[in-house]
Amino acid sequence: MPVITGDEYKNRIDALKAEVWIGGNKLNGNISEHPAFAGIIKSQAELYDLQNTFQKQMTFASETTGNKVGLSYLIPRTKGDLERRRRMIQLWARHSGGVMGRSPDYMNTVLAAFAASVDVLDGEEHCYPERLLNLYEFARENDLSFTHTFVNPQNNRSKLAFLQEDVTNAKIIERNDEGIIIKGAKLLATQGGITDEIIVFSAPGVQDNSQAYGFSIPSNTKGLKFICRESFANQGSSFDYPLSSRFEEMDTIVLFDEVTVPWDRVFLHDNIRAATNLYVKGKFVAFTLHQIVSRQIIKTKFLLGISKRMVETINIGEYQHVQSKVVELIKGLETMEALVIKAEYEANVDHTGIMVPNRQPLYVAVNQFQELYPRFTEILQQLGASGMMTIPKQEAFYSEIGEQLQHFLQGWEVNGEERVELFRLAWDLTMSNFGSRQTLYERFFFGDPIRLSQTIFQIYDDTSSASLVDRFLSKKAD
Ligand SMILES: Cc1cc2nc3c(=O)[nH]c(=O)nc-3n(C[C@H](O)[C@H](O)[C@H](O)COP(=O)(O)OP(=O)(O)OC[C@H]3O[C@@H](n4cnc5c(N)ncnc54)[C@H](O)[C@@H]3O)c2cc1C
Repeated sequence: MPVITGDEYKNRIDALKAEVWIGGNKLNGNISEHPAFAGIIKSQAELYDLQNTFQKQMTFASETTGNKVGLSYLIPRTKGDLERRRRMIQLWARHSGGVMGRSPDYMNTVLAAFAASVDVLDGEEHCYPERLLNLYEFARENDLSFTHTFVNPQNNRSKLAFLQEDVTNAKIIERNDEGIIIKGAKLLATQGGITDEIIVFSAPGVQDNSQAYGFSIPSNTKGLKFICRESFANQGSSFDYPLSSRFEEMDTIVLFDEVTVPWDRVFLHDNIRAATNLYVKGKFVAFTLHQIVSRQIIKTKFLLGISKRMVETINIGEYQHVQSKVVELIKGLETMEALVIKAEYEANVDHTGIMVPNRQPLYVAVNQFQELYPRFTEILQQLGASGMMTIPKQEAFYSEIGEQLQHFLQGWEVNGEERVELFRLAWDLTMSNFGSRQTLYERFFFGDPIRLSQTIFQIYDDTSSASLVDRFLSKKAD
């Protein structure tokens, strides 16, 4: 089956009837018609349509069927493949200004990265690399969409937590002829309930064999429940809520009420070492970060574009501190772009013939963005000042006081409505409920920034800087 259309995606998700809970009620009917999901499902469908329109840039011929399949499933063999992947990711990201963290390429990349890492599972107890490859091929050929949940619930994060009996984490409670049975909870799945499948995996640090697993199941598997937070899909026109009405992805707690995972969907179980190695020694980090940083570049461009437009609209470009603030965005953008190109330039073919980007610059980029993004949103607020609050909805411009608003809210060479439209965009991106969630997302979705920086400290290859110093130390010089 070649790449799907937007309608095919929507119909497939509606037909699934996954168990989704929102506001204490089980969702009934078509999920694409529910106000919390209508916007994001429409936007995701638009992405699939874009993939059809730009087949040359966004697909490749499947090695097994010859069908045109999504480039986000491509396992790169050359540096050119990496560049093609980056361009495809950025084409999709442009559609949302980079605010859709979970456009389908994110999880398709994760699955491709796992499939490219099956050598790590070879010969390991309770590991089934061939099932992972089957899943990858099935997903690639049917253009499946995925969500994922890796992290355990946040009840006790102390160093000695392992001394307490765990009562929340999703764990294997039984292994039988059919498969493994999972009971418990996982922390979060963004887009839970609106993807074909969910990949469930143990994040590194797992201490108990019964919590060391990796599998994928359809979102409507019996006993699987997605519990939504309140929706930030603000109801209104694209003038009033330009981003939140279209791109609110929803985050869901995932409950496993004795879910049977059939054996053909389990790619590892009861093996802490294999679960950790698949994440740490496999290609998950390198490929996933390459996707993430490519998207974050587009998001930074979007923020930069908005900031420049705001500066023009209230004519504040002559002030030195205003220029410096915009330059902070420019420096961030140029650095991110340089880091992703460096990662591609320093990519190497590994022992399995796969081209792997250098993960060091990518780790630096993502960790840096965790700090930069909140600062970027702060800059927009500092530039906009009270303008972030003088933003009546569009209907006000067509009311009795419309003419006065056009006049009194005018900017530099723009009328009131044009100025408010821009400032509502800045507000929706940085201050609305949707906007604050964006900041939390960029801070945390790939892990805690503190521990990410510890990882960089631990893995950074500093041999060349060490040898540089040795030249100046008499005993080490020879
Ligand atoms: C919007 C959003 C969407 C997300 N979507 C997904 C998703 O789709 N799928 C998924 O699997 N996950 C998702 N996540 C989860 C994300 O991976 C975690 O938020 C991240 O790994 C941090 O874990 P935590 O939230 O449990 O924070 P915690 O680990 O509980 O950290 C809380 C605080 O305690 C500190 N802390 C805790 N432990 C330590 C330690 N050992 N050393 C030092 N400091 C420590 C942290 O620095 C932090 O300040 C999402 C998160 C967000 C915010």
